Amino acid sequence: MANRENIRNIGIMAHIDAGKTTTTERILFYSGRIHRMGEVHDGNATMDWMDQEQDRGITITSAVTSFSWKKRQINIIDTPGHVDFTAEVERSLRVLDGAVGVFCGVGGVEPQSETVWAQSERYNIPKIAYVNKLDRMGADFERTLEDIRERLSPGALAIQFPIGKEADFKAIVDVVRGVAYYFDQEEYGSNMVEKEIPEEAQDEYNMYRELLLDVLSEHDDSLMEKILEERELTANEIVPVLRKATISLKVTPVLCGSSFKNMGVRLLMDAIGDLLPSPVDKPDFQIIKDGKLSTLAPADNVPLALIYKIQIDKHVGKLLYARVYSGTIKKGDTLTNQDTGKKERVMRILQMHSNKTKDLNEISYGDIATFVGPKDVKTGQTLAGRGVKFELPKMNFPEAVISMVVEPETKGDYDKLMDSLKRLEDEDPTFFVKEDKNSGQIVISGMGELHLEVLVYRLKNEFGVNANVGTPQVAYRETILDSVEFEEEFDRELKGKKHYAKVKVQISPLLDSEEKSKNVYEMAVTKGDLSPEFLRAIKEGALGGCAAGPIFSWAVRNVKIEVVNVETKEGESSELAFSIATSTAVSRALSEARATFLEPIVKAVVLSPEEYVGDIIADLNGKRGKVLDIKHMEARQQVVCEVPVSELFGYTTRLRNLSKGRASMSMEFLKYDLVPEKIKEAIIEKTRGY
Ligand code: GDP
Ligand code: MG
Repeated sequence: MANRENIRNIGIMAHIDAGKTTTTERILFYSGRIHRMGEVHDGNATMDWMDQEQDRGITITSAVTSFSWKKRQINIIDTPGHVDFTAEVERSLRVLDGAVGVFCGVGGVEPQSETVWAQSERYNIPKIAYVNKLDRMGADFERTLEDIRERLSPGALAIQFPIGKEADFKAIVDVVRGVAYYFDQEEYGSNMVEKEIPEEAQDEYNMYRELLLDVLSEHDDSLMEKILEERELTANEIVPVLRKATISLKVTPVLCGSSFKNMGVRLLMDAIGDLLPSPVDKPDFQIIKDGKLSTLAPADNVPLALIYKIQIDKHVGKLLYARVYSGTIKKGDTLTNQDTGKKERVMRILQMHSNKTKDLNEISYGDIATFVGPKDVKTGQTLAGRGVKFELPKMNFPEAVISMVVEPETKGDYDKLMDSLKRLEDEDPTFFVKEDKNSGQIVISGMGELHLEVLVYRLKNEFGVNANVGTPQVAYRETILDSVEFEEEFDRELKGKKHYAKVKVQISPLLDSEEKSKNVYEMAVTKGDLSPEFLRAIKEGALGGCAAGPIFSWAVRNVKIEVVNVETKEGESSELAFSIATSTAVSRALSEARATFLEPIVKAVVLSPEEYVGDIIADLNGKRGKVLDIKHMEARQQVVCEVPVSELFGYTTRLRNLSKGRASMSMEFLKYDLVPEKIKEAIIEKTRGY
């Protein structure tokens, strides 16, 4: 393993088409990871995404790729650009230490980049920005820099700028080193030539250099003193200060290039190593112990890993992507799943290196690798060494908002369909499969139309399943309007053994709380004879009772469940009895609590030239949309609003028509809201009508 200071766990964030794939290809080429440069061809970005996955063959590459660059081990964690894949973004952000934002020098900051950027700010992730495609017609570095400063990061600071525009883009000036770089097209830009800054770029250089030193001296007194001495500062003096300012999120260094023309990518790789944090820069991590959040420092004898992604590989089986936060995990170690209490054995530890899967004997904190062996583990769970009494915080995955009916083509296709759906569900924490016991319907749900489209594509093409799918529908939820108490007693003999439990629950609506779109569970009883196993069974029963609501068996949300009384019988109480008694009590209580529907609401951000904004807002108002904010920017305006998902089917096409194709948008799940009475009736009619 590389020295811990030399590890960089980074993500590349980009709006679709900004050039993430092209840039990554170059990075892998320069690092010797691949030997032939692949080109991305024009076409549908979704297809590009899927074909990419297929071309690469082994699935491991798309989730994390490791390579060495100038003594550093860089782990690139995949961060998809499309908002339908926010779960992917969320889990990458959880484990990476720094990120590169790739922007198109023509399109500037697109709404989706803004969404991902905002997500990364919530996780305090230091970033550098790379303005790509400067060879293209209409590309403008300064405008994009301004856009980044205005919309994403007030600390955006150019540390490079281009010489020449569009087709004449010919070199990159490094403001830190005070030199210009020219690129040799023959060798995919591998032969980078360093020259003096030409006369034509001197004024611009002086301007950017002065700004850079000004900003940095605000953050570092010793730099200030050196500037006052009025002597030229060297890169060795500037880089550490710039790095510190970047890591503390005061500054976002902005770089430039054209990945397609092989200009600038190697400088970007240098910057990743020089400016983004290593695991040592921020070693402390958060844990949850007894329901409380606190921070801990890594310790050699406390092995702790977060499973941030799961993939089923045809050949290897279940792959668990893990970031180790503390200790060392060795091949063959037995760890405990902190959620289930089950022991899991790590049979293999893999890392993708030089185009091959490399088997490691051990992995230590700060690093990222893939485990093979553990079976019963889900995304977001913690694997820990013996005696550890806490877990790493779970990732927040947004709710599924769209659902669809799936049917096997023939009866014979049923098993394969269910089996494949289960595997997809295993991999993707925002994809859900539910089989309605009464109607026999199989309903899948996910984050958006595109998300389900991709999964159906995989179902058919990757798993070879013959299935028919229905039209996408809104994934409604059920909730309650009244508070109700209910007591349930379970007292039965099963296989010669007595099972007893009596549980009283109180359920109440949870409307305007922080915990929106979740259910809250509280155990209000403290009794000595309630073992941890019983407590776990009661909690499982309580939350399980919310899996199917009283109206249409849709999942129940925004409910608070309190267990207010529990009775046991010596020698007869069992986990089974507690689980069933609690879930029955919750179900019964729900059916008496005036159930109604919740609908998913998204936050939509629309960017449009001013002339169309009036029409767009009028249209959104007609869709029960609530405008939250309008921001005026140089070339476009930004409208932020809340809209019910049910009103947004086919909205992309509509927006295109309203703006002659010039507006763009992004959305993310915001919350569930009560549906208006009129719509409630329509939902009932439509659902009954099936
Ligand atoms: P992604 O969607 O972010 O992965 O973007 P891709 O890497 O797939 O690039 C989208 C399109 O832009 C492809 O047709 C690329 O060839 C093209 N492209 C990427 N980088 C550049 C660049 O620097 N200059 C030009 N002219 N085209 C580029
Ligand atoms: Mg791509």
